Amino acid sequence: MSVSVPAPAFGRFFLPGPTDVHPDVLAAMLRPMIGHRSSAMEQILKDLAPKLGALCRTARPVVVGTTSATGFMEMAVRNGVRRRALSIVNGAFSERFAKVVHAAGKECIRLDVPLGAAVEPDMLRDALRRTPVDAVTVVHSETSTGVLQDVDGFARVTKEFDDVLLLVDAVTSMAGSPVEPDRWGLDFTFTGSQKALALPPGLALGVASPRMMERARTLEGRGLYFDLVSFEQATLKFQPTNTPALSLVYALQAQMDRIERDGGVETRWCRHEAMRRCVEAWAAERGIAFLPCEGRRSWTVSCLKLPAGKSAKDVVGALKEQGWTIGSGYGALKDTTIRIGHMGDHTVAALEELLAVLARALARPQGVL
Ligand SMILES: *Cc1c(COP(=O)(O)O)cnc(C)c1O
Repeated sequence: MSVSVPAPAFGRFFLPGPTDVHPDVLAAMLRPMIGHRSSAMEQILKDLAPKLGALCRTARPVVVGTTSATGFMEMAVRNGVRRRALSIVNGAFSERFAKVVHAAGKECIRLDVPLGAAVEPDMLRDALRRTPVDAVTVVHSETSTGVLQDVDGFARVTKEFDDVLLLVDAVTSMAGSPVEPDRWGLDFTFTGSQKALALPPGLALGVASPRMMERARTLEGRGLYFDLVSFEQATLKFQPTNTPALSLVYALQAQMDRIERDGGVETRWCRHEAMRRCVEAWAAERGIAFLPCEGRRSWTVSCLKLPAGKSAKDVVGALKEQGWTIGSGYGALKDTTIRIGHMGDHTVAALEELLAVLARALARPQGVL
């Protein structure tokens, strides 16, 4: 017999990924299977195409893969890096991007900044002047530190150099704050389903520029599963490359319709910005510091420094007892910071409730948490 744990109510799960999935989206996953080469499947992908284009702000095809987001990180590297990439490293996920470059057998030059800091476009320009590379990897919203980087600025800088592609992990920014692959001129932009899109984990979405496609066609070692060239060919014919996680595709369809009904992606951005501002106002009132500086804070994940004497483990545990989930810090910041993942379908109202519970937990005397 399986052990069943009582399900917590929707709207209290503020982990910075996976995030809460709306019951209507979960319900869509109960639909029966269909053949992935059937006309029904083709119809679903045809219906999804313009909606995904609107969500990802692109006129290019949006490729959808059955993989966690790291798979598309690998897709970015195998199809976008010729010999040598510059990896901007400011946290755990950007570090992973650098490791993927290395694991794919390419040379990786790192531009490191301390945890909580962002790289500014001028720093990127200096690094590119010093080090000729053919691609740059960057994480837009670094989920481990809550830093939002100036990807638009990075794109302007990379264009000053000849034949340098910009590969962007937008896993916790896309669908939560402005990401403009076409307008900014990003060469590959990807996200995963379980973050700002508020779907269960298991799907990744990607957008490649024409330059990226040209580059990909010239590269050997693209592999098979993450070959962007065959992905794009299949996508243009409304076909999946392999058997997709059908239940997740149903969920994606349901979620795209919900996003459209709510007023589209811009409405979604506004709600996320309001959530970021809500945490900022709350923290300022209590003298609690953010790890990132003002203007470089993610709209989907807030990373807060805990007052001296408080441990993340205790604070997260105290919230858990009351039915609320947040994240502790990541890596070296594990016990000194907490992370609130206010992304996906969360609301300002629920976030305010969470912050009231958090304020009470922090107000308890030391050792009583
Ligand atoms: C969660 C996350 C990833 C990795 O996603 P997986 O789906 O676990 O592979 C990559 N980058 C960022 C910024 C993330 O937040």
